[in-house]
Amino acid sequence: MPPDVCQLPLVGGHPALDLVNTLERGATSPHDFLSDPSALLRWSVLAGTINDVEAEQVGRAWRDEPAAAHAGLAAVRDIREGLNLVLLAAIIDADGGTAGDSVEAGAALVALHQRWSGAAARARFVLESSRVRLAYDTVPAMLVPDRIAEAAYDVMLTADLTRVRRCPVLEGGCGWLFLDRSRNGSRRWCRMADCGNVVKARRLTERRRAARPSGS
Ligand SMILES: [Zn+2]
Repeated sequence: MPPDVCQLPLVGGHPALDLVNTLERGATSPHDFLSDPSALLRWSVLAGTINDVEAEQVGRAWRDEPAAAHAGLAAVRDIREGLNLVLLAAIIDADGGTAGDSVEAGAALVALHQRWSGAAARARFVLESSRVRLAYDTVPAMLVPDRIAEAAYDVMLTADLTRVRRCPVLEGGCGWLFLDRSRNGSRRWCRMADCGNVVKARRLTERRRAARPSGS
């Protein structure tokens, strides 16, 4: 049985990348950790896009209006797919190409802009400590997709996308996305403790097997 969504390690370095990692890709039967609105709500708290008090408000709103819960989940999955396409198109491969498709990424940007502008239309300006910020918290039933649209906007416009990496699938990694914050930009694995060490151990076994005289 796949682990619960709350056991998912957050390795992306940004909630938007962690969101992309809630869907296993490349497997024969991809597992979606955001299996229902309740899983989405628990993951949103885990990822820090909403707090416990807000989660209670959202839970109440979604219980009163189950259709809104499912619409929220659909919106989040939509943002997740769009982000995946955009971020893959931002990853430059060793041969200078990108890991994604620029046309698909362009279409995804249009859809992501629509999601974000809907969220921005529901947001309000708040003056706090001599600064004005946009608070995405006016409609509890839409709070989760709106905060996630905000996270998508934030990663696309403020993160250094040249630092987006994908744990290398061809070398045995898991394919998760993460922001490489290492000083020299050389991080290769989502988590050395998991993917990196598993691959190293497998290589060592293979080398030992190859070195063993035949027949023994
Ligand atoms: Zn990995």
